Amino acid sequence: MKINCPLSRLPLLIFSLLCFLCFASPSFAAPPHHISYTVTVADTANKRYRVTARAEGVTEATISFALPAWSPGWYVLTNAYKNIENVTATDGDGKPLLVTHPDKLTYKVTGGGKGDVILSYDLRAIDRDPDAVGPGATGGRDYGFFAPYLDETNGFVPGPASLTYVVGGKSVPCSVTYKVPEGWKIASANDPGADNATFTAKDYDSLADNPADLGKFDRYDRTIAGVPVSVVIVGASGRSHRKFTEACWKIAEAGIRVIGGGKSPFPRYIFHFRAPEVTVGIAGLEHLNSTVITLPLSAIRTADPDSLSVIAHEFVHAWNVKRIRPDKLGPFDYTREVRVRDLWWLEGVTDYYAPRILLEAGLVSQDYWRSYMAYTIGLVQNNPSRKRVTLETASLKAWEGRSEGFDGLSYYEKGLVVGLLLDIEMRRVSKNRVGTDDLMKTLFSETDKRGQGYPEGEIERTASRLTGSDLTAFFDKTLRSTTELPLKEILESAGLNLIFAALSIPDFGIDVNTLTPTAEGIRIGSLIKNGPAERSGLKEGDILLAVNGKNIRDIDGTIFGDVSQDQDIALSIRRDNVTRSITLTVGEKKETAYELRLIAEATPLQKAIRTSLIGRAISDSAGTPVGAFQSP
Ligand SMILES: [Zn+2]
Repeated sequence: MKINCPLSRLPLLIFSLLCFLCFASPSFAAPPHHISYTVTVADTANKRYRVTARAEGVTEATISFALPAWSPGWYVLTNAYKNIENVTATDGDGKPLLVTHPDKLTYKVTGGGKGDVILSYDLRAIDRDPDAVGPGATGGRDYGFFAPYLDETNGFVPGPASLTYVVGGKSVPCSVTYKVPEGWKIASANDPGADNATFTAKDYDSLADNPADLGKFDRYDRTIAGVPVSVVIVGASGRSHRKFTEACWKIAEAGIRVIGGGKSPFPRYIFHFRAPEVTVGIAGLEHLNSTVITLPLSAIRTADPDSLSVIAHEFVHAWNVKRIRPDKLGPFDYTREVRVRDLWWLEGVTDYYAPRILLEAGLVSQDYWRSYMAYTIGLVQNNPSRKRVTLETASLKAWEGRSEGFDGLSYYEKGLVVGLLLDIEMRRVSKNRVGTDDLMKTLFSETDKRGQGYPEGEIERTASRLTGSDLTAFFDKTLRSTTELPLKEILESAGLNLIFAALSIPDFGIDVNTLTPTAEGIRIGSLIKNGPAERSGLKEGDILLAVNGKNIRDIDGTIFGDVSQDQDIALSIRRDNVTRSITLTVGEKKETAYELRLIAEATPLQKAIRTSLIGRAISDSAGTPVGAFQSP
């Protein structure tokens, strides 16, 4: 579900997972040679795992274990450390060792000497508990992929919030064994052992990256481009998944073809889907060889393009962010905020490719691609923050902006638009010889060859090098200034005409970014001051139970449905444990809608660029009929 808006076609949030690199310091004189973890489903009623971290071949008297303060890809410091309880330590013979807790993340074990040291702890696994991940920074939102989870039938283990690393020993090989009740399955994209319960990785960052689904779920496997690609669905058993899984495999095939040139960079890939009873929109988090996506049941049934675009976005991340990554993030520091300038590229350009992958997969029409671009242009152009925040600032201050941007400017949205303009500009100056496809492939092959992330400024330098033109002025303007984007002139180079129209859209006065699913319904975190919701008597913290008599769990699609200005919506809400009825009168918001039309009399170069962006068929079609739109 998401708040209804006639133009609302994009996911509410898409999370990024940034790179992993080895942590070089501080280091042991000789670190342990291997770390092996066990995660045991210990107490489903009380939602507790028992975790052990065994450092093998310890040579020093003191060793420290620490839990990451954040999950890569989500630029928010979390409270995940609060889930660790009952910590003990022993040596390899079971002799108890002294554990101290010098700071909230770290456990220091003393007295082990030579041999193995084993840290054991209970892991509280209640992912919907706001306190479990960080209410201060997130408004209590969790999508089922940042914190561990456990119930009678299912478990979820995300590495950074579950497994403590050995301080100074993060680069040694690791393994994790999941001990689950009889009949439970295990799905993780790390390297599986013969028992399919133990998984290995070359270091902690890799091991912690791919999470595990445990328990009862549906799983479908197919080989795509020579690689096993699996779809795991939790919470939607007994329904047909055929259309949805086919769409996932088409996305995988198109992604490997378009981004990877036919070659997959991973040995296997798992799409982990979960469809909880109450959801707010669709959101995903990418991993090295997998992604975790929370979505409404309706999305699994309909495989609608907007849901598929999130899946495509996450799949593109298997290259862009997971492998094409800035070295600024390495050594990968889990103890504090890590800042990079390129989230516009890592997130925004990833999203630029999402509708393109769907188009290449034959899942959407070319009109969808154009409307996706035009809609996102509208999000940027209707947003006053574009006049006060640069794209680069939005990247650097992601930690202050809930991992979406800064001060209202989203690096997803403006980054996508700049990606579109960059693709066209590269093609214009190179006479359509190179574009962002080439930039993506070059960045991938160079980071792959180097075995580490790219240095700062590499994207801009590589774009200029590939085109043979100095693109500094383009980047200065689009990334480091707040002047209006040169939309019209650059889009025209691709034979695309940007037109707009005034638009009235329903206004509810609710900040959709603060909606949180709860056990009962949807919690409203924040209201727009003096907006329709506040005027109707809604308060921050109210839990929405029913809309026009329909239970929120039974609403399939947008929360408020199709409504117009001045219409009354009957809401049932819970406040202070009392159920109340409130009538919300819908208001009106004026915005500008954008549309991308094809220029019929395009030059051969304009047509060639357009074809490179969206394929031949669209370039030959005349576009949609003229309505209320006009040329700026
Ligand atoms: Zn992303």
